[in-house]
Amino acid sequence: MKYIAYCRKSTDEKDKQVLSIEAQIAELKEFAKREKLTVTEFITEAKTAKAPGREQFAEVLKKIEKGMANAILSWHPDRLARNSIDGGKIIYLLDTGKLLDLKFPSFWFESTPQGKFMLSIAFGQSKYYVDNLSENVKRGNRQKLRNGVWPSKAPYGYINNPKTRGIDIDEEKSKVVKQSFQLFADGNVSFTGISQFMFKFGIKREGEKPVKVGQVKNMLSNRFYLGILKYAGEYYQGSHKTFISKKLFDEVQKQVEKIERPRQKGHNFAFAGLATCGECGAAITAEQHIKKYKNGTDQTFIYYRCTKKLRPCTQKYVSEIELEPQIRKIVSDCGLHEDWEPYFEKWITQAEEKDKLVAGVEEIQLDGQIQESEVKLNRLLNGYLDQVIEPEIYKQKKNELFEEKLKLEEKKSQISKSGTVWLEPMREFVNCALQAQKVARAENNSHDLSIMGKKVGSNFFLNDRRLSATLDFPFAALSAEGGAASAAPNSDSISFLVTPLGLEPRFLG
Ligand SMILES: [Zn+2]
Repeated sequence: MKYIAYCRKSTDEKDKQVLSIEAQIAELKEFAKREKLTVTEFITEAKTAKAPGREQFAEVLKKIEKGMANAILSWHPDRLARNSIDGGKIIYLLDTGKLLDLKFPSFWFESTPQGKFMLSIAFGQSKYYVDNLSENVKRGNRQKLRNGVWPSKAPYGYINNPKTRGIDIDEEKSKVVKQSFQLFADGNVSFTGISQFMFKFGIKREGEKPVKVGQVKNMLSNRFYLGILKYAGEYYQGSHKTFISKKLFDEVQKQVEKIERPRQKGHNFAFAGLATCGECGAAITAEQHIKKYKNGTDQTFIYYRCTKKLRPCTQKYVSEIELEPQIRKIVSDCGLHEDWEPYFEKWITQAEEKDKLVAGVEEIQLDGQIQESEVKLNRLLNGYLDQVIEPEIYKQKKNELFEEKLKLEEKKSQISKSGTVWLEPMREFVNCALQAQKVARAENNSHDLSIMGKKVGSNFFLNDRRLSATLDFPFAALSAEGGAASAAPNSDSISFLVTPLGLEPRFLG
């Protein structure tokens, strides 16, 4: 089949929805490439189609008559004809078999009686179709979304596949994106740092510029990377493959939150922002005093005190030298001696095996619930299509059901990934406790002590120079034994440590 591509835009068409001739050519070239059409030539015309008598259009018809081409490619039927005479000529050529095919990127035509009927309507009412063009695009988007396909530009690490119209993983760039997520999760790189990293490895925005900070932030919080599409306030289950794990994504969200939160003043003081005043509840602030000696040397002292901004308060200064051993004691009591590690490892492994059996049963239950919510969604869609349900109610209800289904699916994937959800925190606890013991034993590490303190506890109060904290379970249980776990295990410590932690003694020792 030989196609003549015909493009037209007249000066009296102010309508912005009508593409410029240049844009039509570009679209048609892309379309032809995609559909593998042989285009013999491009013919353009800058005249109105409302009245007959266009020279270039006549040229197209003449060439078809002569058999120099047997098909026409155009943006839309209204580019070809907007009056019944020109439209009639086209249909006549189709009827006589001189014209075998018409192709339009924005109009579906097939050479059947129905197709010709639709075409004649498109010629006669082309304005109607033009007006509906953007509506058609929206409708197309919705169809795509229902099929789980993102209808817009692919996010970083993905590419739009022009053949399937789907979204594929970009082999190279997805690796850069994944590394960006990992870098960011580690917590030492800013949004700008990620942008620079991506730039270095070929991910840029238009004009060879680094991706903007806001775009980096959006990328790092985009649930598209988990397979979820959010479009115009509605959720859809994506069909694209993912390369970022749920765990990594969640870690990144924690970092995003941390950066987004305004930085606390005086963060260079190790224990600033750790505690509040036990008497009045006001914030604790830090001050630095430099004492100069007559012999020319000086010494720096750091003090913490109540800001007394809420009401009068009798609390006095406390020096960092006094504060440090107190937080060290708290951290130390939450520590686990490294010799405990194999005991806990063994216990976790056995618990994991036991839970795999339980998880299997749970998965089957969840499958049932997921199916149930799918049935509900289908029923809802049918009600909507039958116009029994109002669009607004449909949208709201659909989002609800979708969220519910999403949660079930998330739960299921968590179960199949890690046996059960709770073993992971257990591992984290053991690792954290092992680390706490190391931090407590190290020297000159006020900042590390402060960070570790916040990991094991909360609600730090300073009252009469004494620091107190509420320890998170199971650190509270560990600490209740007076730091027994920070020593190597022996038969006594094993028996009194496992019970408060809720562990079964048979797994230990
Ligand atoms: Zn106070």
